[in-house]
Amino acid sequence: MADVFHRAADWAIEPERRVLRVVWDDGAVSEYEWEALRRGCPCAFCSGEGSYRGNVDAATAFTAEQTTLSEVFPVGRYGLTPAWADGHDTGIYTFKMLRRAAGLG
Ligand SMILES: [Zn+2]
Repeated sequence: MADVFHRAADWAIEPERRVLRVVWDDGAVSEYEWEALRRGCPCAFCSGEGSYRGNVDAATAFTAEQTTLSEVFPVGRYGLTPAWADGHDTGIYTFKMLRRAAGLG
């Protein structure tokens, strides 16, 4: 089978449950817990780049602001960028990455 590229058709921030809910173009639905999402931030500052290690790992303790999702913006046609309550908004989560994290193809 061909490598099908799926896009997020819709998404919603659910503050009561502290999850980001994504509805995909194939009907699949996945949810991402805010803290796990923030811990997985793929930006260079958080996850590092090349020989630079980055500032976030499994032991990082976050503030409430750092794990509170304020807004989510689409990035071109390939991903989403969450804006966190502490102002951090440089992580681009590609649809491919989000699908894989949810166990979807
Ligand atoms: Zn980051």
